[in-house]
Amino acid sequence: MKKFLRFLTALAALLFLPLLAAEAGAAEVTALRTAARTDGNPPFVRIVLDLSASVKAVASLDKSGDTLTVTLKDTEAASSAAKTYSVDAQNVDDVTLKNDDGDARLTVDMKHETAMSDIKVFALKANGNLPQRLVVDIPSVSSGSSSSDAKSPSSGGVKGSSSAPASDKKILKGKVICIDPGHGGSDVGAIGTLKGKSIYEKDITLSIAGPLRDMLRDAGAKVVMTRSTDKDVARAYAGDAEELQARCDVANKAKADIFVSIHIDSFSNASVDGTTAYYYPKTGRDLLLARALHQSMMTNMAIPDRGVRSNDLYVNMHTDMPACLMEMGFISNTHRLSMLTSSWGPKRIAETMYQGIVEYFKQID
Ligand SMILES: [Zn+2]
Repeated sequence: MKKFLRFLTALAALLFLPLLAAEAGAAEVTALRTAARTDGNPPFVRIVLDLSASVKAVASLDKSGDTLTVTLKDTEAASSAAKTYSVDAQNVDDVTLKNDDGDARLTVDMKHETAMSDIKVFALKANGNLPQRLVVDIPSVSSGSSSSDAKSPSSGGVKGSSSAPASDKKILKGKVICIDPGHGGSDVGAIGTLKGKSIYEKDITLSIAGPLRDMLRDAGAKVVMTRSTDKDVARAYAGDAEELQARCDVANKAKADIFVSIHIDSFSNASVDGTTAYYYPKTGRDLLLARALHQSMMTNMAIPDRGVRSNDLYVNMHTDMPACLMEMGFISNTHRLSMLTSSWGPKRIAETMYQGIVEYFKQID
């Protein structure tokens, strides 16, 4: 429901895009600038159009979700500004501004499909020497090599309707992967607060695990989940050892090749954030798995590094196969929590974990 409301809000924002009180007379786009910004989370590409006057703008995505069109009504693009700009950022190829029958049209070619709800289009008023501006922000939702970004209406997660690269399929085919979304049911895990609402670790871990499962299955892996709904794996209010052993049993019985547990950290100091990969060196490959997952997080996400650490965590010790428990940031950090509960955050983490898993199997095969 929350997701749907967010969608409605995004839609409403678009419908009311007549951004600046519309004045009569044709406006002109005098200049266009693009910048790949890494100070946002996720990083984003910002496109700024300088305007001589107020404009009405309408934004739309094509069906495939990889071309964004912004039409500026009754607006002329100055000849110096009407051209193609090469951006070549992680998510945007290039940007074209041209005149089209009395309107100015901005076209953005994206490398990955992007949801309209993630794209921001807004106006900035003239300020000092700066003229009125129209700003388009496009987040780099996708980590790059995985294209499994299609929306699944049933689960709300990522569904592998677009196929995984053939090279991934070759690597993952027949591999048995056990995914363990931390906590569940009577055990909510760590608790965060966002806008006065309690957010449970058990729900975030599941929102990452779902898309990860779909991507791995799409690439031909056999995925075993310790849970795929909000439930205890052993039984409600079981002791830690019983609950965690039940999770290990799922992986051991399936003779999984690897076990990956997903958790969200918490700390009393809200400024603390970062990702940690925990392993226990019981096979020759636990560290290798932890390193592959950790490295992918460092490469693909803007999140502080808390390292690869050896620890005697129960699930890492009592699984028969290489295992890693990933802490994906801190629920106690507001910035991280808003990312972990955003429309793009869990998917982005899932893609990143997927890449790490592919990398692990690439190294051992
Ligand atoms: Zn946890």
